[in-house]
Amino acid sequence: MNNMKNDQEKIETILKDVVEHAANFFNGLEDRAVTNYAYNAPADKLPELGSGAQATLHHFTQYYAAGLSGSAGSRYLGFVTGGSTPASIVGDWLVSIYDQNLSHSKDSIAGAMELATIDMLKELLLISDDYRGTFVSGATMANFVGLAQAREWVAQYYGKSTALDGLFDIPPIKIVSGTPHSSIFKATSMLGIGRKSIHLIPCQEEREAIDIAKLQQFLEDNQQEPCIVVANAGTVNTVDFDDLLAIGELKKRYNFWLHIDAAFGGFAACSPKYLHLVEGINHADSITIDAHKWLNVPYDAAMQFTRDQSLQVSVFKNNAAYLGGSLDNPDFCDLTPENSRRFRALPAWFSLQAYGQNGYQQLIEQNVMLAQQLGQKIDDSSFFTLLAPVRLNVVCFAINHAVLTDETNKQFLTSLNQQGKVFMTPTVYQGVPAIRAAFSNWRTTPDDLAIIWEALTAAMPL
Ligand SMILES: *Cc1c(COP(=O)(O)O)cnc(C)c1O
Repeated sequence: MNNMKNDQEKIETILKDVVEHAANFFNGLEDRAVTNYAYNAPADKLPELGSGAQATLHHFTQYYAAGLSGSAGSRYLGFVTGGSTPASIVGDWLVSIYDQNLSHSKDSIAGAMELATIDMLKELLLISDDYRGTFVSGATMANFVGLAQAREWVAQYYGKSTALDGLFDIPPIKIVSGTPHSSIFKATSMLGIGRKSIHLIPCQEEREAIDIAKLQQFLEDNQQEPCIVVANAGTVNTVDFDDLLAIGELKKRYNFWLHIDAAFGGFAACSPKYLHLVEGINHADSITIDAHKWLNVPYDAAMQFTRDQSLQVSVFKNNAAYLGGSLDNPDFCDLTPENSRRFRALPAWFSLQAYGQNGYQQLIEQNVMLAQQLGQKIDDSSFFTLLAPVRLNVVCFAINHAVLTDETNKQFLTSLNQQGKVFMTPTVYQGVPAIRAAFSNWRTTPDDLAIIWEALTAAMPL
């Protein structure tokens, strides 16, 4: 205990050291290599006594810090990666110092703050007021919770409960979707529904948006059983959106649970220019929104929204005498897989309070503008081919190469990413080995675009 007690006495000095370290990192983010492949980890073992917080910080700074990536910076365009806003960092640091457990909402004001954050998010994202929302660790978890509700809903149609009886005596559940994210498959696997239960419905020509007529045909052919439709509001390759209004219309005629995965595409609602893309989102029975992507708060945070919280409680209730809860009053621990929960809403609360609707509108519009400009440059260039229109914040393109294979594509990405100026990730789009550049960080500016273009042309020709 000695080191801990010593550190307790020195906490102010220690935290000041951390502030200095953190400010150096934060201010130097654009100068460091965006990704870091060449690092040598020292072979640290569990010490018997340990060296205390300050010496450990020093050791970390010396041997490890340089080996971490600059993924929070302005030119990391891989996957869909946000960067923490300044205010969200404040909130995140305070999460650790206050160290609250949000399994229950009534122990302190923290529960009310989580609910207030959910309300602000509904306003920002134009999700109607009658939805309830809960924080989870990521969009995968939000998809899992939404599909768990859907599974229970299907079971209830057969007069059963999967929460009580398992899946054993209900017919196989059908899930249909156009271009579902990989985490939808993972969720079906975790839920015992099984990856093979996903029926892919063809998309519209040259699109990743579901063909509504073909979806309707499927629903018509399967009228005798309820099913789950996963609509996608922002696909990762080309940020395509299913027609949510049309799917909402189908809901009037057919019996299905509508889950909308709007992990990052949901943020189209922040701008009057793009909000038409998510029109109809309020037809959903459950909605997934990520926070550590376009909300630009630190990992790990996402939200799930639903109107029907009772199904969620059926699945996730955690009743125990010592917890004092009653199922008439379900609390946070009765709504998601977690029981003990960190004060995950606080970074979002800080960021929303600090920057407001306008701050997020600017962030989204700036990212989209830069994506469109990069898309234009690519379209005009003889080195590259733009594979899809830039609908929002992702540019999906291919290199022009005599033999374009996965291998040449990877070679190009290696020579691009190893420059350390920019990071992009591979994909395959309509059978073509392709590259994605996703803009989702508040730090990215037009100056970055110039550097990105320089790096792209330097990597070409192969
Ligand atoms: C990123 C993403 C997910 C998974 O999110 P995690 O936060 O990584 O769990 C799910 N759906 C879509 C559309 C995504 O973009």
